[in-house]
Amino acid sequence: IEPRRSWIDKLRQGLRKTGSSIAQVFTGTQIDDALYEELEAALLMADTGVKATEHLLADLKRRVKDAKATAPSAVRGLLIEALADLLRPLEKSLAVGRHSPTVMMVVGVNGAGKTTSIGKLTRHLAEADQKILLAAADTFRAAAREQLAVWADRTQVEIVSQEGGDPSAVTFDAVTAGRARGCDVVIADTAGRLPTQLHLMEELKKIKRVIGKAQDGAPHEVLLVIDGNTGQNALAQVKTFDDAIGLTGLIVTKLDGTAKGGVLAAIARERAIPVYFIGVGEKLEDLQTFNAREFAQALLE
Ligand code: GDP
Repeated sequence: IEPRRSWIDKLRQGLRKTGSSIAQVFTGTQIDDALYEELEAALLMADTGVKATEHLLADLKRRVKDAKATAPSAVRGLLIEALADLLRPLEKSLAVGRHSPTVMMVVGVNGAGKTTSIGKLTRHLAEADQKILLAAADTFRAAAREQLAVWADRTQVEIVSQEGGDPSAVTFDAVTAGRARGCDVVIADTAGRLPTQLHLMEELKKIKRVIGKAQDGAPHEVLLVIDGNTGQNALAQVKTFDDAIGLTGLIVTKLDGTAKGGVLAAIARERAIPVYFIGVGEKLEDLQTFNAREFAQALLE
């Protein structure tokens, strides 16, 4: 396990692209309308979105007044506070152990980092002595199945996989097998895109329904993986998936190299679904729990 410092550094290095333009705003000598205008532009550039930007600016002005701040450098500290407060509702840890097994359905568009995140999550849970079963419910893409099998091998966990076939049938089998084998967690990887004649959301709804038939009350988690580097597009995905199937948590990947880190503020403001984990690299250990204060500092300091 890497020392804690090193991943915060990765996050900070990544977010520097986002933060440097914001930091520029505080190099002047006075707090005036021009400063707030520049800040507004920089926040929007970082994909913070109109609503979260308005919220942050109003909150910041209040804090500046209360603190009787006169130097732009002090404003930066107050913005960190405001952003941390905005992001705090996203902090939540993923609970396991309440069900046998806890069933997680993982969704997201291709390329978001879904399979990699499942691999990282599997390792994270295996380290906490959880017995895990993976379900390869993306039966459409051979590469997706193969990639998941590689992660299963790497993390030494079992996998239920079937070439072709019905994704919900594979998931049903996996949940049933997970119960029979006394697994603690079943994680189902789903497709990010379907052959054109099929509709992704309908497919995901069906998988979700069938999981409920295999085990009462399941799935316990519906996790969406989004690429943090896609900014406002990631927010649109959160809304679309949440409206269609109901999300319980997010994993935000690729925060080690983005100029759009502000999107988390947009998510907090517009669809505050907990961020269970953030991805800060391609390696197994590059999955970290989300902390609002650390994120705000990494972005703005
Ligand atoms: P999927 O299609 O959603 O399953 O996406 P993959 O898991 O295959 O990931 C797509 C690409 O993104 C791969 O090259 C991954 O190594 C990379 N990736 C995933 N998560 C991260 C992350 O947190 N940081 C970086 N830099 N790359 C990532």
